[in-house]
Amino acid sequence: MGRQAKSMRNWDGSITSRPAARVSPANVSEIIAVITNIKKYPSPVRAVGAFSSSTRCAAADGGTVVDMGKMNRILEYGEGYIRVQAGARLYEVARELQKRGLEFAASPGPSVMSMGSAACGATLAPAMPGQSGQLSSYAVAMKLVTPAGELLEVDNSKPELLRLLRCSYGLLGLVYEITLLVRPQRALKLRFDQLPLNTVLQLLTALDYNAVSLGLQVFPFRKRVAVEHRGEHTAGRGSRRLVWRLQRWVLQQLQPHLGELLARIPVNAVRYRLIDGLNQALNTGFGKALSGAGVTTGDRIVRWPGNKRVRQTVWVFPAVSFAGVLNEYVDFCRTHFESCGYRCNLPTACELIAADNESLLSVSSDGPVFTLEPRSTADEGWNDFLVDFNDFCSRLGGRPLFNQTRGLSRDQARRAYAGRLANFSNLRKKVDPHDRLLNAFFDQILA
Ligand SMILES: Cc1cc2nc3c(=O)[nH]c(=O)nc-3n(C[C@H](O)[C@H](O)[C@H](O)COP(=O)(O)OP(=O)(O)OC[C@H]3O[C@@H](n4cnc5c(N)ncnc54)[C@H](O)[C@@H]3O)c2cc1C
Repeated sequence: MGRQAKSMRNWDGSITSRPAARVSPANVSEIIAVITNIKKYPSPVRAVGAFSSSTRCAAADGGTVVDMGKMNRILEYGEGYIRVQAGARLYEVARELQKRGLEFAASPGPSVMSMGSAACGATLAPAMPGQSGQLSSYAVAMKLVTPAGELLEVDNSKPELLRLLRCSYGLLGLVYEITLLVRPQRALKLRFDQLPLNTVLQLLTALDYNAVSLGLQVFPFRKRVAVEHRGEHTAGRGSRRLVWRLQRWVLQQLQPHLGELLARIPVNAVRYRLIDGLNQALNTGFGKALSGAGVTTGDRIVRWPGNKRVRQTVWVFPAVSFAGVLNEYVDFCRTHFESCGYRCNLPTACELIAADNESLLSVSSDGPVFTLEPRSTADEGWNDFLVDFNDFCSRLGGRPLFNQTRGLSRDQARRAYAGRLANFSNLRKKVDPHDRLLNAFFDQILA
């Protein structure tokens, strides 16, 4: 099983954890052996999947990291469901489903995440009519090792417990097996527009949020927005998988490299003109090439082909008031640039996420939301930008994600989740009275 005490870096290198022990169990007995031996495996004990979160949610400083990577098998393809071990990677499972003409009931984008984290963390999937906002809502059964080292199976016969487990971030137990709903694969038809900001603000106000699927790429300094509309692909141009993959590679790999290179140009006016022009041209070019084409959700959940230097942070806002938020965000970016001299060198992404009340700490529990996701190559000024951005979002009533919002403070978390966080905290204390699984990050957030 292994036991070392080396520091660990998260996927993009922005977070370092210094556990006293690190283990990679191959079966559930080995997980129990860790949980029940506090001397050899000190607290906090934290399950880790791909360690791709951008907060310290999985960190185990002075404690024990349980790397779930060896427990990565697909155990069963059932009628409308799949049973997997928690360490399997989402994109690998998606690929196997695709071979059988199946897909997840809700599909996030390209990533490196593990099934364990997808089942018990905030994993957002672009809205599709009739679908829930988080992949965890389709986890209909989970098997876990509790903080006391006991085995527990939770399924639809215990709906409140299941609701608590989804979005529990490894604080209630180490999940080792998950049953997730799947469905026959379908193709999406994509349509792209590049529009002035004001037109998009009007469009957002008039939308029926429960009947559409769309993502935005916002260029705050050009006051332009690229809009990706998605619908069922019933007829029209066939699959353009290769163009789709090329687009992913260019936007996630090449665009950030070029952004970094251009950021070295010493003259501000030239530098930003080129960065804005390049970002807009790449998005428009691929948008045109893909418009009307079909793409399956399996094509979309590929292993993240992107640049590890790209950083992003996420807040969400109620869809009904998002037009106003987006307008203020553009002003915020411009004001921040004027006062601090910093602006992100990549477009800001926004995604419509469906309402989802299937977990206690869901980000869209009271209706559809839009994400607001500034991205950059973490150039100088990014960390200060994040501080101001968090203040801005909190002031406007945004909701953070415990695995994806960088630099979150306890007050911001409390303001956003209020009674639900207190409720979760009380239930957690009952399940784990000796804080076997509680790390410093959640101790501060839940205090
Ligand atoms: C390139 C990239 C693309 C991304 N794309 C998306 C996206 O499309 N949609 C989206 O929502 N997010 C996305 N994210 C964010 C990221 O995937 C999520 O933060 C996800 O939760 C991380 O998964 P992980 O396996 O790396 O979890 P980790 O970072 O290892 O852990 C996250 C949390 O889950 C807990 N956990 C992990 N495994 C278990 C287990 N077996 N039992 C109990 N608890 C467990 C950990 O303790 C921790 O609290 C992306 C991130 C990157 C870097």
